[in-house]
Amino acid sequence: MKKYLAGLIGLAVLTGIMNQAPKASAYGYRNCNAVVTSDTIRWKSIPPRFRASAVSFPAGVWRNALAESVSQWNTNPSKFYFNLTYDEPSVGRNNGENEIWFSNDDSVLAGAPAIAYTWWSCNPFSIKINEADVIFDNRVPYTPYTSKSSLWGYGGSYRPFQTTASHELGHAAGLLHENRFYNIMGQDWTHIHTNAGIAKTYSGEDASNGAVFLYGLYSTPLNDLSVSHWKRAGASGEYSTHSRTQMFTSGGALLASFNDAGEPRYHVNRGQTVQVEFTYENNGAATQNPNVGYYVSSNDNITTLDTFLGSVGFTLGRNTPYTARNYVTIPNTLAPGKYYVGAIVDRTNAVGEVYEDNNSTYIAIQVH
Ligand SMILES: [Zn+2]
Repeated sequence: MKKYLAGLIGLAVLTGIMNQAPKASAYGYRNCNAVVTSDTIRWKSIPPRFRASAVSFPAGVWRNALAESVSQWNTNPSKFYFNLTYDEPSVGRNNGENEIWFSNDDSVLAGAPAIAYTWWSCNPFSIKINEADVIFDNRVPYTPYTSKSSLWGYGGSYRPFQTTASHELGHAAGLLHENRFYNIMGQDWTHIHTNAGIAKTYSGEDASNGAVFLYGLYSTPLNDLSVSHWKRAGASGEYSTHSRTQMFTSGGALLASFNDAGEPRYHVNRGQTVQVEFTYENNGAATQNPNVGYYVSSNDNITTLDTFLGSVGFTLGRNTPYTARNYVTIPNTLAPGKYYVGAIVDRTNAVGEVYEDNNSTYIAIQVH
């Protein structure tokens, strides 16, 4: 749909004299003179306190959705995290407080569905972010809920509030847009983890890597692996665009598929060997060597109780997301019908993770 591509999210307001840092690394960030990395523009006092508007985020589902996005960000492996407080009575830009609210003021939103404003100082003795504010357009069809069928990426009518919040929180943390990789600082509503009908936000490998670049690793290793059925498709301006991962014949030709209730479903035959594609991410502190298992399931809830098809060992460092194809053979014994091929990263649960709920996902198949 056209509106999917129309909105710019979170234009940062450039109030200081600055150059954008050269993009030798994947993530984008600000730098006062683009020469020495110590000039990176970031928070100096951590955690910065962010205040949610009392009017926009009363106790209830919107507050809970915002809290979950913040909590997801706070699992990132760097020293950076947000302190979120509620019931802020008076919000405004450049008022000395970091605030989050909903608005319909076009002079603030500047045509974006959500926007992050950042004020910083390039005083050589005190280079730092001074304030950040995040404003959401309350006319955008956001939903605070995570049922996949309601969401844009799955044929639904609503934009996931949580992914947009994660994107804007990335700006608030000091990150800029990135269009070269599958990442939350690109098109946010297609950077999402889904299993068992629930689609939730996560900060992802590239943004986590950016946070570590800006702030350094937290003293306690915070590890997280994830697997997603989304990948980078291309670039739209500063944003990466994302599309669903796919299935191929053993020779690498794209399999035929059809749209089944908002999701692709691939035609396969019993006994057929296919290549199944997923995006694997290391969102955490340390390089991991997870075992990835492939399964076939009668539903979209992929667990280790499903029929095991095989496994492979990966080495995943924290750098850029890894979109890969692997061979699986559809069992001869399956009755024709609808199934799901699933992947579980760290299927043996060998890695202690700060978030264990993003380790499984699926691609739908029609078995003939
Ligand atoms: Zn943005």
